Amino acid sequence: MKNILKSCDPTGRYTFLFNTFNGCSIKYSNNIFKTEEDFLNNKEIKQLLKKEDFFQSWEYKYEKILKNEEKVLNISLLIHENCNFRCTYCYEKFEKKEMKIDVMESVIEFIKNSIYSNAEIQHLHISWFGGEPLLNIKGIEYLSNIFIEICDEFNIEYSSDITTNGYMLTLRNYRKLSRLKVSNYQITIDGPKKSHDSQRVLTNGGGTYDRIINNLIKISTDTSDNNLIAIRTNIGPDNISYMEFHIQNLINIFGEDKRFDFNFHNIGNWGENCIDVISNNVALDFSELTVELGGKSEGILWNLMPNTYCYAGKKIII
Ligand code: SF4
Repeated sequence: MKNILKSCDPTGRYTFLFNTFNGCSIKYSNNIFKTEEDFLNNKEIKQLLKKEDFFQSWEYKYEKILKNEEKVLNISLLIHENCNFRCTYCYEKFEKKEMKIDVMESVIEFIKNSIYSNAEIQHLHISWFGGEPLLNIKGIEYLSNIFIEICDEFNIEYSSDITTNGYMLTLRNYRKLSRLKVSNYQITIDGPKKSHDSQRVLTNGGGTYDRIINNLIKISTDTSDNNLIAIRTNIGPDNISYMEFHIQNLINIFGEDKRFDFNFHNIGNWGENCIDVISNNVALDFSELTVELGGKSEGILWNLMPNTYCYAGKKIII
């Protein structure tokens, strides 16, 4: 199964299986199941995997890809390159502002041409990125409406995700984005208030924790949909000691809302400046702890992927 990644945690206690096509992950104890075959051939596990669609989606998707039946046009758009934050580890120079209208028109043209010239494309997926993309929510609205129209015209699927710092993710903006088919959100919270506010600050140096948490609480208590809201925590030497408290706190606030998922990443050196980073990958340990404490951490195995990058990064780390 080429699309199933397998890895063990550093202590060797658990094995993780990750389906790279459908994003499902599963962890089993090596004390209970000595081999992968033992695990996969267990009757109850088989039923569970079937119920949770662990392999079915894979078989379906893999077959389609093999037959070249499914083609997704994935595009990441840096809709606003400035940001209302100045995180201590940020490598951005904030020289550019919002995406200009002629660039937007070129993007529309490119997408139309790609779809016209390739009848196999069945799905358009847009990732909204920045800087802070919500500084240009008008641009997101303008382009999303056009993309949805194009997809309707050609009878292809449309979906999108957004990576936002969450400061402007008010309930009103969230509802607007959901209407524009943004179904996957990534918001960073770097620890409890003291720790988050020491590294994720506004341009004037002010803290941002309270506002982001309040925005998310409103979303959690006021709406229900099938979106995914991933809370990302970047871990470095300054906040690692707060992690256990932070995870418990997030689970207390959002754990009941099945849309919320918690994932962890070592702060990476994506830019030109040297920043303090932790050398060993601690992200997996905190994903594990989240699951143990009753939270969701489905992005767990992305931490083990060998090649990774940042859309706006100035270098690729392999
Ligand atoms: S929110 Fe993102 S783009 Fe803005 S300063 Fe922080 S890391 Fe940089």
